[in-house]
Amino acid sequence: MLKLKHITLSAFEIINDSGTILIDPFVSLNAQYNYRNSKNISDIFVTHGHYDHVGQTVEIAKNTGADVTAIVDVAAYFQTLGVKKVHPVGIGSWLNYDWGRCIFLPAIHTCTLPNGASGGVAASILFEINGVRIFHAGDTSLTVEFKGINEVYHPDVALLPIGGIYGMDIEHAVIAAKWLGVKMIVPMHYYLPPVIDVDPRDFAKKFEETDVKCVILDNENDELLLK
Ligand SMILES: [Zn+2]
Repeated sequence: MLKLKHITLSAFEIINDSGTILIDPFVSLNAQYNYRNSKNISDIFVTHGHYDHVGQTVEIAKNTGADVTAIVDVAAYFQTLGVKKVHPVGIGSWLNYDWGRCIFLPAIHTCTLPNGASGGVAASILFEINGVRIFHAGDTSLTVEFKGINEVYHPDVALLPIGGIYGMDIEHAVIAAKWLGVKMIVPMHYYLPPVIDVDPRDFAKKFEETDVKCVILDNENDELLLK
């Protein structure tokens, strides 16, 4: 079993046989969401140090005992705030877990931490669970890295930012989907008041007569069954 749930902005749950993986948990933006209702949050992944991606990582990690994996500079920030099980990593190699494996990959974006310090480089993350490859693009511009990610990793599903201003807008995310070679995409990062408010249906329309399936996971109970 493998399910994907969009909490808000770039925050997702990947629900697998052994528990729940949280990505970029800025969950305070979704008042309906309560992480205490999620089954065994085993891991939290953070793509970069901006507040809208770090979110409630510290609180959730402390209250659930979840492991936190992030680029070394962001990981060090979590350690200074008292998070115990932190895994500092870099970009470019497979990382193994009970539920599968993942790899941090490049993203083109800045990475200042909530305390103003540098968070190093921003990342995207590709997960491989039960033979399914899910690519979370983080915050990024369109980058030719996507062509290499397609060639080397063949992602099945891509979670792509479409809100513009800080990263890709709809026009660029459409090209990203093509370069990644995915057959399924989930839009993200389209509602961040007061700056970003983009309708994901305008993105989905671009794929209407293609073989790419665009899935909007907007409602509290929406889940995408991947396996
Ligand atoms: Zn962001």
